[in-house]
Amino acid sequence: MPNNATFSEIGKAIADHNSFAVVSHVRPDGDAIGSVLALGHALEQLGKSVRYLNNDGCPKSLEFLPGSEKVEISGEVGVLEVEVAITLDTAAHMRIGEGSLEAIKNAKLLINIDHHISNPGYGDLSYVDPNSPATGQIIYELLISLGLPVSRISRDSIYVAVSTDTGSFQYPGTTQRTYEMAADLVGRGLNVGKINQLIYDNQPYRRVELMRALLNTLDRSDDGLIVWWDLPMATKNELELMDDDSEGLIDFIRSVHGVVVAVFFEDLDGGKVRVSMRSKDARVNASEICGVFGGGGHALAAGIRMPGPLDETREKVLAVIRESLKRAGIS
Ligand code: AMP
Ligand code: MN
Ligand code: MN
Repeated sequence: MPNNATFSEIGKAIADHNSFAVVSHVRPDGDAIGSVLALGHALEQLGKSVRYLNNDGCPKSLEFLPGSEKVEISGEVGVLEVEVAITLDTAAHMRIGEGSLEAIKNAKLLINIDHHISNPGYGDLSYVDPNSPATGQIIYELLISLGLPVSRISRDSIYVAVSTDTGSFQYPGTTQRTYEMAADLVGRGLNVGKINQLIYDNQPYRRVELMRALLNTLDRSDDGLIVWWDLPMATKNELELMDDDSEGLIDFIRSVHGVVVAVFFEDLDGGKVRVSMRSKDARVNASEICGVFGGGGHALAAGIRMPGPLDETREKVLAVIRESLKRAGIS
């Protein structure tokens, strides 16, 4: 990982410019949208002009976030005349997607703020902290350290970003600082009960139907170390699924006793397959396994987009996982 810019260098870049685009990875999760809203709104509070972009727009499940209506679908905005583009929670520049790449191509400064260990440090200014459990926590530290305003919108967005990326403050990456941050956000008026209900007790019935379909494809290795399920295109069409419907469902199979790696295979348009991977053992690095196929992420949670068909993709990926388990001395 190359050298990080300092917060004050990023602060100077903010002070020196007036127009910004904040953008995150395709198929955005809570950390991607939350970080974009949190930083974008802080910039607006400073009087900056801000465009909020995502290749796929804001998912329905995050529309409860105030400010989310400002997120535009990148492919619909043309080429923006903004001075600065800031990518958030985006491990590789390409992962903002084609529409976003086009929309920000005239920006004269690119800032990359992220927490993925596989992030190569692209951009003119880059701040990558793999020890931060969420990009939202880095945005919190940035706002506090630069003395930028933490508005109601930024406060709630940071909480959602960090809560969703840490599995409700449970994953091993969760630090003392994460809890201190959460306590500070509560001190700033965050309604914990209400926001958690909006995040976690608010799923469409469709998602439960999806769970039923996934359970019908559930499979595992003979030794019980690897468990996986599939989402073929036929099921997506039949249930009329939205992109974010599968978000987080993999946690259910990861939770099985004895499982070390859980994998989710999903057909995408254009014959591609999305692979979502979770590891429960630091000796089995999901980001490295996904890296074999051009993907990446974190040691315990990573992903790939690769050519299908799904059956072949599954066999290729499972073979590399088996090798990794063997190398780690687990199987
Ligand atoms: P997901 O399984 O989609 O929840 O992704 C798990 C983690 O891996 C997230 O932090 C993603 O941002 C990251 N990730 C997923 N797919 C890719 C990819 N193709 N390249 C790099 N990172 C990825
Ligand atoms: Mn993300
Ligand atoms: Mn993240």
